[in-house]
Amino acid sequence: MPDLERALPDFDAVKLLSVSLDRLSCWYKPGLLAIGDAAHAMSPVGGIGINLAIQDAVCTANMLAPPIRDGKSVDGLLGRVQERRMLPTRIIQGAQRTVHERVLRPVIEGKAGFGERPPLIMRLFDRFPLLRRIPGYFIGHGIRQEHVEVPAAPVA
Ligand SMILES: Cc1cc2nc3c(=O)[nH]c(=O)nc-3n(C[C@H](O)[C@H](O)[C@H](O)COP(=O)(O)OP(=O)(O)OC[C@H]3O[C@@H](n4cnc5c(N)ncnc54)[C@H](O)[C@@H]3O)c2cc1C
Repeated sequence: MPDLERALPDFDAVKLLSVSLDRLSCWYKPGLLAIGDAAHAMSPVGGIGINLAIQDAVCTANMLAPPIRDGKSVDGLLGRVQERRMLPTRIIQGAQRTVHERVLRPVIEGKAGFGERPPLIMRLFDRFPLLRRIPGYFIGHGIRQEHVEVPAAPVA
C-alpha cells in the first residue's frame, strides 16, 4: 500500500491513454519513411502493435541497409517498404476493428448480451483447443514474416 500511495499520490497522476486505429495513405516522402505507429496507429487489441512495428523495422532494414551502406539514395525504395507491409497492416487492423465493433463497443455501451451463446468461432476454439494455435501463430509470427537478412555491422 505505501508503494501504491507513492506511485499514485492523487488522481491527477492517473493519465488516460488515447487509442487510435488508423493509417497513413502514403508512408513516405523523399528523405522520410514512417513505420510502426507513425504509419499505422494500432489499438491494444491482441497485444500485437509492437510486433507489427518490429516487423516493419526488420523489413525496412532488409530493404534499405544495403544501399545505404553503399552510399546510394534510397528514396526510390521507400514505397516498396509500404507495399510489403500494407497487407499485414490492413489484415491486423481489420481484425482489431472487428473486435472494437463487435466486442468492445457493445460492452462499453452496455448492449452486450452476456446471456447469449458465444460466437461460433469462440465455441469452436472451446471445442477444439488446437484451433487456438492459429490466431496465436499469426499474432506471434505475423501475417507476413520478416527475417533479419542484413548482417550486423562489426563492432568497432
Ligand atoms: C493503451 C494502449 C495499450 C497498448 N497495448 C499494447 C500491448 O499490450 N501490446 C502491443 O503489442 N501493443 C500495444 N499497443 C500498441 C503499441 O503501443 C504500438 O503499436 C507500438 O508501441 C508501436 O511502436 P512504435 O515504436 O511504432 O511507436 P511508439 O511505441 O509510440 O514509439 C515511438 C517513440 O518515439 C518517441 N518520440 C515521439 N516523438 C519524438 C520526437 N520528436 N523525438 C524523439 N522521440 C520521439 C516516443 O516518445 C516513443 O517512445 C497499445 C496501444 C495503446 C494506445
